[in-house]
Amino acid sequence: MSRIMHQESLTPPSADRFRRSVLMVIITVSVLGTLSGWYIMGVRGLLSPVLHAVQAVTLVVLLALFLAAWLELLPQRFLELSCLVYAAAICVVCMALRMYLPRYGAAIDLEPLYLWIPMVYVFAFMLTNHKTGLVVSSGIFGLFLCVSLPYLVQHIDGPYANFTVQLHVVSAALIATLYFFSSYQQRLRLVQVKADQLAHLSNTDELTKLPNRRHMASVIDGELARVAAGRGGFALMLFDIDPFKAINDRFGHPAGDGALVGLAACATEVFRGVGALARWGGDEFMALVRDLGSADAERVADALCAQVAASSRPGGQSITISCGVTVAIRSDSIDSLLQRADAALYAAKRAGRDRAESLLETQAG
Ligand code: GH3
Ligand code: MG
Repeated sequence: MSRIMHQESLTPPSADRFRRSVLMVIITVSVLGTLSGWYIMGVRGLLSPVLHAVQAVTLVVLLALFLAAWLELLPQRFLELSCLVYAAAICVVCMALRMYLPRYGAAIDLEPLYLWIPMVYVFAFMLTNHKTGLVVSSGIFGLFLCVSLPYLVQHIDGPYANFTVQLHVVSAALIATLYFFSSYQQRLRLVQVKADQLAHLSNTDELTKLPNRRHMASVIDGELARVAAGRGGFALMLFDIDPFKAINDRFGHPAGDGALVGLAACATEVFRGVGALARWGGDEFMALVRDLGSADAERVADALCAQVAASSRPGGQSITISCGVTVAIRSDSIDSLLQRADAALYAAKRAGRDRAESLLETQAG
């Protein structure tokens, strides 16, 4: 019997592991950038002892973060936020040195540094949700504001005043824009989750949790297209509880519901990993098995009837089913196929129930 559902045991890629690798690459690039900056500044004779210290601390912290990522010493989210806060701290220190301690920060060029600061806000929103992104970005923005405010108050006509003010205005606008897009994205994600839930509900039978008629009809449509294209075939089995009305009348509707659920569970076991199964409606169920010839399909249907008779017991009584079997052919439409399955089921009922009957296209014609 061929398998319609290939249950491949693919292990999903770990998002954390991927993010950890990306972070390690970013840290490596930062280490190389720091080393080359340190070297170039040294060659140009621009390094003060304070800048030596800043570069050395940067290197040590970057290497510590790299080791923490490599050895998985810290939770990924914590590590990412640590890197972000550290990058912001470096920018703040450079800004403070340049503005207030020109003796030590003379080699720091503020304009290119300011180009990188917006990236900190972008990453804050990328790494968190819209609310945390706003809190983290606002905190970092407040830090830049606090550090630069005394300079701006005292030197509003100073050399760094204009583009520092521009930086703050652009940063505020960027944070507002990022918050807007991030919260919009969050809402879209929620809508998507709801849409997925609705799609699942509209394709699922509420009582048995099996796929419903709508879903099965689309599966049959797809399989018929495959058959029409000459890429294999399938068998269809339509089965129905023998006199189910009597079970409802005798044991009550809840017991009848229990019998439907029991039949669904039993059929699920029979067709697990082998075919598609659905509740077709009322006490009728349908199973589709790919690449199954009529003889094999009859054998499966007989086994199903026997299995149900042996296992479902509403109020202590066994239930039985009758099953109609047919095999799809290239010229079939969904209607012709269902008609044959229905006629086969009817034949099983007329032949005394608790059995499977098959009807193939040549017999039907
Ligand atoms: P047959 O052997 O010819 O199939 O006889 P039957 O009594 O089973 O006849 P039929 O299949 O036409 O009866 C279906 C019955 O299933 C009628 C309806 O009351 C009952 N039914 C349909 N849906 C449900 C349900 O969700 N729960 C319960 N408990 N009964 C249902
Ligand atoms: Mg019935």
